[in-house]
Amino acid sequence: MASAAPTSTGVTAAPVATAAALDETAPTRAPRLTLPSSGPIRALDLHVDTPWKVHFKGRPKTLPDGPVSAPLLQAGGYAALVYPIYLPDYLHDDHPTIADADAIYATIDALVAEHDALLYERELPPSGELPDGRVVVYVSIEGAGAFADDVSQIERFVRRGVRFVGPVHARDNRLAGSATGKERYGLTALGKQLCERVYAAGALVDVSHLSDAGIADLAPIARRFQAPIVATHSNARARHDHPRNLRDDDLRLIGETGGVVGLNLHRGFLPGQKLSSIVSMVKHLVDVAGVDHVALGTDFDGGTPPRELADASRMPALAAALRGAGMDEASVRKIFATNALRVMAWQPPAAR
Ligand SMILES: [Zn+2]
Repeated sequence: MASAAPTSTGVTAAPVATAAALDETAPTRAPRLTLPSSGPIRALDLHVDTPWKVHFKGRPKTLPDGPVSAPLLQAGGYAALVYPIYLPDYLHDDHPTIADADAIYATIDALVAEHDALLYERELPPSGELPDGRVVVYVSIEGAGAFADDVSQIERFVRRGVRFVGPVHARDNRLAGSATGKERYGLTALGKQLCERVYAAGALVDVSHLSDAGIADLAPIARRFQAPIVATHSNARARHDHPRNLRDDDLRLIGETGGVVGLNLHRGFLPGQKLSSIVSMVKHLVDVAGVDHVALGTDFDGGTPPRELADASRMPALAAALRGAGMDEASVRKIFATNALRVMAWQPPAAR
C-alpha cells in the first residue's frame, strides 16, 4: 500500500494490468469460435503469409492490395485464418532471434487493430458466434530455430496466443532438419525439448517444412501428449513429388493422431494449375489421411496460387469444384473449417 501513489481523493489506485499481461492470460479464457452447420460455407485457412509481406516486404498494413485484403477475405466467406510469425532463416547473417518473433507479433497486432474485419478469438462474444463480416485471426510460428537460444521462451508465445509452432523453415537449423535442407536430419535434443514444451503449454507442433526424419521423431512425443499431428500447409508427395509434400505414411500418421493436413495452393506443390488437379490432390489427401483430417492452408502471400484460385475471394469456387467432383456437403464443410476447429480445441492431458 505504502508504495502505491494515492489519488487526489486519497483513494489508492488499483494497479493497472498491462496489455502484455492481459494477452498472456487470454487464450485459456477465450470463447471458442463456433460456426453454423448450414448457410454459406465458411473457410478457416491455416496459413496466410500476410505478416511477412507487411513486416519485411513493405506492404502497408492497410492491405491496399494483395490476395488476402479484408474485402477479399469477406468475399471468400473466410471465418478465420492463421497468420504465421515467419522467421526467415537468413535474418541477421543467418541468426534470426526471439526478438524478431516479438517484433513480427507486434506487426500482427497492428494488422488486427487496423482492420475492423479482423479480431482475435478472445474478442468473440461468449457464445463463440462470429459477428457478420468478421474474421478471427490465430497466430503460428514458422521456423522456430531462434528459440534454440532459449526454448522456455516458446511458452510466453503460447500464452500470448500462438497455436501452432513449426520448428523449421527452408533450411536445417538447431532444432531439426528441414524438408528442403541439406542434411534433413530429425529433431535434435533441443528440438525434442521445444516440441514437448509446445504440447505441454497447449499448442501444436506444425510439421509443414519438417524433414521426414523429423516427423518420425515427433510421432512418439505427440503420442505421449495425445496430441494431433498437424501439417498446416502441405500436400501429398504421391500426387506431386516435392520434398515439401508429405509421404502417404505421414498422411496416415496425421489421420491416426486425429490431426489435419492443410491443402497448399502454391503452384510448385501441385500436379497442375487447373482446379481439377487441386480437386484430385484433395481427393488423395482424403483417401489416405481420411475426410476428418484434411483442412485448408492456402499459403496466400507466401506461394503463388493457380489463376483459378488467385485470391481469398475464390474459395467458394474450390468448394463448388469439390461438390462437382461428387463430394458431399458435410465433407466439404469439414475440409473448409470444422476439422481445423476440432484440432484447435485440443488441450494437453494435464489441462483436461
Ligand atoms: Zn511455409
